[in-house]
Amino acid sequence: MSKKISRRHFFSRSFGLSAGALLFKDFPIFQSSAASKIPLIITSHTNETGEKAMETGWEILAKGGSAVDAVEKAANIIELDAEGMGVGFGGLPNENGVVQLDASIMDGKTYNAGSVACLENIKTPCSVARVVMEKTDHIMLVGRDALEFARKWGFKKEDLLTEKARERWLRWKERLSDRDDWGPSEHLKNLKKKSPGSKESDEIEHYSGTTNVLAIDKNGDIAGVTTTSGLSFKIPGRVGDSPIIGAGLYVDNEVGAAGATGRGEDVIKSCASFYIVLRMKEGRKPLDACEDAMKMIADKYRKVNPNFFPGEQFVAINKQGEYGCTQMRGKRPARISVMTKDGYTRHEGTVVFK
Ligand code: ASP
Repeated sequence: MSKKISRRHFFSRSFGLSAGALLFKDFPIFQSSAASKIPLIITSHTNETGEKAMETGWEILAKGGSAVDAVEKAANIIELDAEGMGVGFGGLPNENGVVQLDASIMDGKTYNAGSVACLENIKTPCSVARVVMEKTDHIMLVGRDALEFARKWGFKKEDLLTEKARERWLRWKERLSDRDDWGPSEHLKNLKKKSPGSKESDEIEHYSGTTNVLAIDKNGDIAGVTTTSGLSFKIPGRVGDSPIIGAGLYVDNEVGAAGATGRGEDVIKSCASFYIVLRMKEGRKPLDACEDAMKMIADKYRKVNPNFFPGEQFVAINKQGEYGCTQMRGKRPARISVMTKDGYTRHEGTVVFK
């Protein structure tokens, strides 16, 4: 397959830099309005692993395979990447040093969904979620029993904590102070905390790196996966938005699909992915619908803490094959990887509150 290489993509390859090392503003190739193409697969991962994931998903779609196969196999590539510290194997652990994974999958064609939460020792949680979806009448399995379930279905029990993640966790423990999750909802008390790399933040220090994968196959059927190791150093047992259908992921075969990353607590409270799909059903384009959801969340906080803008990123596709992504705050707009018959590109979305 001939690959369309964007100028920016070519640049990053030629100079051996990672995707994240370059600023989109220097190479404004792909702007927010997206062309319509089917089949289509996108992910919120824009590094080389994200690109590999798109190639894997695309191979399935190009052969006429289903959207649900494409999103699962594409997400597996990201889950199995030991270098990625926000998803699957190599993900950052909870505060006890244990990697606990959350994942969900939704198949628009069958209107079915499956998910797992706090799953330990399985490298590909979205595939376990798929077994829950297809082999049971339930939606979500959690913790030890989710692991038992996975073992019964032939998934291998493995150590998920890499040396890199363990070191990061130990460094975090050394600095343990007022930056953990114990205590009341601090964002409601106007507390400001510093986080590494930023001048000032309203948020507790966390690293994130969840991935959303959304696809439409040649029949127009839509599917999605959201998979994550959750907020780093979270309280053991904490479940984020990723495995919650309607929060971290939602698919409506007649309308489109949406996925979320970022502070899961707010994505859960706002049912963000469901809201985005609902807005698209009302006629909004994917990007507009994602921005609507951000504004809806910010509005909720206006009365309790007007300075609080939870760090979220939303991605969406519609039935026509249009896509969009946005970010709550920050200098750099949200980005996604996109794969169509025209090849692989990286697409730049927007920042809602600059
Ligand atoms: N949304 C994920 C969670 O809250 C974290 C992330 O996106 O990185 O678990």
